[in-house]
Amino acid sequence: MSITPQPGIMDIALYVSGESTLTGHAAPLKLSSNENPLGCSPAAQAAFAAAARDLNRYPSTDHAGLRGAIGQVNGLDPDRIICGAGSDEVLQFVVHAFAGPGDEIITTEHGFSMYPILARMVGATPVTVREVARRIDVDAILAAVTDRTRIVFIANPANPTGTMLAESELLRLARGLPPDVILVHDGAYTEFAEGFDGGVSLVEQFPNVVMTRTFSKIHGLGGLRIGWGYAAREIIEVLNRIRQPFNLSSAQLAAAEAAMRDTAFVADCAAANAAMRQRLRASLIQLGIGCDESHANFVLARFGSAEQADAADAALRDAGILVRKVGGYGLPDALRITVGDAAGVTRVLETLGAFMADRE
Ligand code: PMP
Repeated sequence: MSITPQPGIMDIALYVSGESTLTGHAAPLKLSSNENPLGCSPAAQAAFAAAARDLNRYPSTDHAGLRGAIGQVNGLDPDRIICGAGSDEVLQFVVHAFAGPGDEIITTEHGFSMYPILARMVGATPVTVREVARRIDVDAILAAVTDRTRIVFIANPANPTGTMLAESELLRLARGLPPDVILVHDGAYTEFAEGFDGGVSLVEQFPNVVMTRTFSKIHGLGGLRIGWGYAAREIIEVLNRIRQPFNLSSAQLAAAEAAMRDTAFVADCAAANAAMRQRLRASLIQLGIGCDESHANFVLARFGSAEQADAADAALRDAGILVRKVGGYGLPDALRITVGDAAGVTRVLETLGAFMADRE
């Protein structure tokens, strides 16, 4: 090809999303993308449909309605909120605005795969530091900081491990970073972690912290593509300069606003997830499968070897169940299983119960 992409673009690994089709099964049980098994708020669906009446009109450029709702429900200043097409887009704003060729962006061993992709998009170098027993290690991050470090990415709770940093460790990380390095606290799974503010207090204490959240998980709106970020006014002001004026459609904005205001739906989903997650984990452990405590809407099931994890994945597929292989996250002996509804959890446990019995 005589047309040449920019340097580094061909080094970008294509993002692999959770599979959604399974040959031979008309309706597979999809537990591969951490989606909400309870769907989304009916109010969000109604708002989406209502927005279809005015599709000839351009959407809001400043997202004042949605930012107002997010601010009201979460007790935050709407002027310090930015919305994007999924939290992925908000993460991209941060990288685009604050890193470039030659800069370094720190991510962790089992960290979310979008972080290195985003780094390479702007010609920056992703620097991956070790974790300890599937947990983010603050010392490893701080030791990796150089003059070139611009951004540190952590997801808390983390994907795909489901583990969380203790509040004191989070503080130690924020305190230990130079003030000109941005700490991105990715809170895609915040609402599933009991009693956690998602990084709000961190943002309030440190002007270099950006917190991100999503409507894709607890709100059950992965198909809508909406996420948001919260940070110091100065940072949000920068990010808005590189945001496309109409990055969110009127239907997206309307549905997300209704979803944010439906706090009863969110509370129900969090309670259902906590109960099912507890049941799934306890039963996996009983079957002899390793499983750390998860603070998200999935668990990481560890089978002892890559061969066993592959065999378990094959058994689940035979039963019409799709889960996520995480070899690409440095966890070849494990499978990430989204917490389903009661029937879904039962189906997973019956299948893995038979699989483990066959091994003996
Ligand atoms: N961060 C983490 C840790 C995630 O797991 C995901 C979804 N896989 C995202 C961000 C992006 O979510 P979205 O773009 O749908 O908001």
